[in-house]
Amino acid sequence: MSDTRHTKVLIIGSGPTGYTAGVYASRAMLEPILVQGIEPGGQLTTTTEVENWPGDTEVQGPDLMVRMEAHAKAMGTEIIGDIISDLDLSQRPFTAKGDSGATYTADAVILATGARAKWLGLPSEEKFKGFGVSACATCDGFFYRGQEIVVIGGGNTAVEEALFLTNFASKVTLIHRRDELRAEKVLQNRLLKHPKIEPLWFHELDEVVGTDAPLGVEVVRAKHTKTGKITEIPCKGVFVAIGHAPANELVKDVLETHSGGYVKVEAGSTRTSIPGVFAAGDLTDHIYRQAVTSAGMGCMAALDAEKFIAEQA
Ligand code: FAD
Ligand code: NAP
Repeated sequence: MSDTRHTKVLIIGSGPTGYTAGVYASRAMLEPILVQGIEPGGQLTTTTEVENWPGDTEVQGPDLMVRMEAHAKAMGTEIIGDIISDLDLSQRPFTAKGDSGATYTADAVILATGARAKWLGLPSEEKFKGFGVSACATCDGFFYRGQEIVVIGGGNTAVEEALFLTNFASKVTLIHRRDELRAEKVLQNRLLKHPKIEPLWFHELDEVVGTDAPLGVEVVRAKHTKTGKITEIPCKGVFVAIGHAPANELVKDVLETHSGGYVKVEAGSTRTSIPGVFAAGDLTDHIYRQAVTSAGMGCMAALDAEKFIAEQA
């Protein structure tokens, strides 16, 4: 495809932020185009039960995102499976280029690119990525039936991943650098009561050790944060769950950011430092980072874009 498409509102990203922006922009008759990116449905497609989406006591993350996509489509959002690789915000209409070869021009842009898993940055982590080291338990947990697994981190993601992995693993060791979890209390309680899970407090991953042919993990070396003493834990899988960083690659050099790369928006709005460019959801938010807050910000972005376009007419 090498065509150019013009839209009043281009939404980049297909998580709760993007799809909610699509619903609202469609109902404002703005005929938005939404580009899904490499992870259609966003981060919630990498989890199982979601228990805090209002209206659903429990819903599977991937199912919720399929429903959100269908909702945005039914309201009139054109949803395109493409990845934006270049974004020119220097003049209006704004121009985005997709990996497919398509060019999109837009009177307003809503950035909803969310966040991506962080890695520790160890050479051994890199070496075994995809061969025993993972950042997605729902994607890869199945490969470790009857095996021992370690999970790194102490937030909601780490605790949920540890609990989920007990469905497959014979034992899960949760390695955390403190002796206090950041995760919600209800999740902490489930983790601490679980017979298959053993926390290892005050430890950090030092090295992943394994075989070269075939490439595979055999053991991790965990270092005590105070004494430096190394503990070796036999395992076949290592799940790194140390948080997420904003997916700001398209705009980090042209938009103001804060707190380690989150796109800065005016308080109480989704306006960025460039008029006509709006940002919402996990891309802007280093505090709440929830599906419901992201959806709320997606709504705000569409309303802000509608007002901006009306003012230009
Ligand atoms: P994301 O969901 O990160 O979506 C970003 C979108 O942008 C993706 O579709 C991606 O493909 C797209 N994108 C990125 N770059 C490009 C590009 N260049 N071109 C086009 N598209 C692009 N929150 C809860 O409220 N409850 C939970 O139970 C819960 N569980 C979670 C479990 C896990 C394992 C994780 C990782 C997170 C969980 N969260 C949960 C947090 C929640 O998923 C996020 O707050 C929410 O998904 C953020 O929505 P978003 O739309 O801003 O971004
Ligand atoms: P997070 O809340 O930022 O937690 C990251 C964890 O990793 C922390 O425990 C942190 O330790 C640890 N960590 C960070 N860097 C590390 C390093 N270099 N070495 C070792 N440990 C490191 O991230 P998250 O758990 O991915 O959650 C992200 C957001 O998504 C949160 O807002 C969360 O609420 C949301 N989420 C919600 C749900 C849910 O509602 N059920 C589920 C998943 C995620 P310290 O504690 O010592 O800082």
